[in-house]
Order: sequence, then structure tokens, then C-alpha cells
Amino acid sequence: MEYIMKSCPICGGKFVVMEDAANEAVYCTLECLSKAEKSMNKVSMKI
Ligand SMILES: [Zn+2]
Repeated sequence: MEYIMKSCPICGGKFVVMEDAANEAVYCTLECLSKAEKSMNKVSMKI
């Protein structure tokens, strides 16, 4: 199984994911995922 190093767009941290999951895994933790969702909601509310 291949592993890919990615960087989280929220906290900037590096994390490793399996190649199969690399397209789905964008954020290093669920905490960062929920932060991203909250900020997306704020953006859509402004529009
Ligand atoms: Zn993160």
C-alpha cells in the first residue's frame, strides 16, 4: 500500500494518507474538517 504526504489547508500540518483515500482526505483531523465547513457556511451566508 502506498502512502501520500499531504498538507492540511486549515492548520497547514502535514499528514499521511493511504493512496486510495488521498482524494477524499483533505484535512488532517475532523476538527479541521469542521472548521472548513464552518468557514464555507460563513462564505455562503455573505453571498
Ligand atoms: Zn489540519
